[in-house]
Amino acid sequence: MIVAKRKPFEEIKDMLKGYKKVLNVGCGTCVSVCLAGGEKEVAVLNAEIDMARKLDNDPIELGAYTVERQCDREYLAELDDMVKDYDALISMACGVGIQFLAERFPETPVLPAVDTSGLAVNQAVGWYEERCRSCQSCVLGWTGGICPVTMCAKGLYNGPCGGTNQGKCEISQDQPCAWYLIHERLSAQDRLDNIKRIKAPSTWCDQVPRTLIQPGYKKPEEEE
Ligand code: SF4
Ligand code: SF4
Repeated sequence: MIVAKRKPFEEIKDMLKGYKKVLNVGCGTCVSVCLAGGEKEVAVLNAEIDMARKLDNDPIELGAYTVERQCDREYLAELDDMVKDYDALISMACGVGIQFLAERFPETPVLPAVDTSGLAVNQAVGWYEERCRSCQSCVLGWTGGICPVTMCAKGLYNGPCGGTNQGKCEISQDQPCAWYLIHERLSAQDRLDNIKRIKAPSTWCDQVPRTLIQPGYKKPEEEE
């Protein structure tokens, strides 16, 4: 899932300067599961803002609404009649949800209340570890299911580098070498020959926004 964490309160408060009536929009999916931007976090943030602004003698009126997914047009439509009553919106969704909200309501300032961290697994309550950087050229089939783009400090598709030392990465003794882990995993599976397969350089795909259209689907404007 996409994981995020709430921004420092002072940063949020600073963005809200001058606004008197603000709707805080949560997202009920990834950021809700990772305890950053769901219904509960919206309520907690609103309570904190409310108290801080009262203490500053600058009260603010806050609304709260959590949609199922902010990255989905269908759910954003629920806000259409509400937004005109507010000076600004806070979004507690991930970066894509925030942008989609801003795109739907271009005349209303949309202020992010979370920092998006990445694609991660849930190791325990409140503990998330990044596992994928959406490189669009997945090599997990050759690496024993361990992602070298995320886990290796240099993001090497072919490794290890010369800095690997007794299972540790050269950047830190606390950091396992991803390619050591890959070696161990492949060795246990009797697939060590995979490590010698040179993965070709992948197409650089981070320069422009990437689009994914599943086979059999088209962009709406391409449809008859
Ligand atoms: S190689 Fe790693 S970053 Fe690339 S798609 Fe696979 S898991 Fe994600
Ligand atoms: S030591 Fe291992 S994890 Fe660290 S940069 Fe080199 S190959 Fe990557």
